[in-house]
Amino acid sequence: MSDTTAASDDVEDRVLEPGDTIGIIGGGQLGRMLAMAAARLGLRTLILDPDADCPAAATAHGVVIARHDDRAALEALSRQAAVITYEFENVPVAPLDAADLSCAVRPGTQALAIAQDRASEKGFFNALGIATAPWAAVDSIADAQTAFAALGPGILKTRRLGYDGKGQARVRGAGDIAAAFSAMDGQPAIYEGFVGFEREVSVIAARFADGSFSAFDVPENRHDAGILRQSIVPADIGPASAAAACSAARTLLDALGYVGVAGVEFFVMADGSVVANEFAPRVHNSGHWTEAACPVSQFEQHIRAVAGWTAGDTARHSDAVMHNLVGDDVNDVPRWLATPGAMLHLYGKAEARPGRKMGHVTVIAPHPR
Ligand code: AMP
Repeated sequence: MSDTTAASDDVEDRVLEPGDTIGIIGGGQLGRMLAMAAARLGLRTLILDPDADCPAAATAHGVVIARHDDRAALEALSRQAAVITYEFENVPVAPLDAADLSCAVRPGTQALAIAQDRASEKGFFNALGIATAPWAAVDSIADAQTAFAALGPGILKTRRLGYDGKGQARVRGAGDIAAAFSAMDGQPAIYEGFVGFEREVSVIAARFADGSFSAFDVPENRHDAGILRQSIVPADIGPASAAAACSAARTLLDALGYVGVAGVEFFVMADGSVVANEFAPRVHNSGHWTEAACPVSQFEQHIRAVAGWTAGDTARHSDAVMHNLVGDDVNDVPRWLATPGAMLHLYGKAEARPGRKMGHVTVIAPHPR
């Protein structure tokens, strides 16, 4: 083994110690909550974000003010950090891969590259034997017509940069195809056959450097206009459905050699089978309830994993309903402050724009263990 390989192995295998610094690419609310969890474990965090006043700035130890694709800033971050992680799935992959980093990136960039492109994501699921909606790549109106003829009513989605229901158009009949295709604005897309699911759930799971795997109880997720509004645990699904979803999540994380927490979204069908929709290579909005209902939250679990530490106890001590506070929902704060069992979490965002996630509240109802 050459010295260079030995040195890079040291970087890859590094186990952090209290006082070490974790670099976090992205300064949104997820970075804010990761920084809080790290601080509780005696670890420091340094955020890379163009906005000096981003939500994570208030809870981290410092901010490197730079664009997320600034290679020199990524390299500077790596010199100050013992490991780099990220808090949003659209982190630019090319500059991160090209950068000469002096610490590891956990999870790596493969998970990012796959999750950023719906065609790669669905193809990756399918190659692992994980069921998804039937789908086809769409680059032209003729492709859209062929896909509709083969798959029936469905949804056209941009391959990249779609989240919270953005970049999507429903196709109920052949007459909708032209409008749906022009809504893609010339961007590469995929067409998905419509899945008549009973409910939507997610697996919030962690994989650790030693290959061990740990998942939280499965929440049921309710969306409105593509935005998550509530996560409810326990989900009203059978144990076989929960086990199938967890097993698919484990297969995915193993295939990626993943280190950290990921959120994998599933549709649950009337017969109890599960169909994967998408995954996020980061902590996930549908896992926010864990900070109120589990000894170790998804945020702490992610920090433990990227630090090279062992898994924490994810056993749920309470039933929980997490409500997202979106836009004007933040006006309900006085009511939540007076609600028994409610744990309020605000992200420190000044302006409540429509659709903007301002905070969340988790209401727990403890159950005997
Ligand atoms: P996505 O951005 O892929 O998570 O889609 C946003 C929401 O649209 C999902 O949470 C589902 O409620 C719905 N949805 C997405 N894809 C499908 C599908 N193939 N069939 C039925 N509903 C879907």
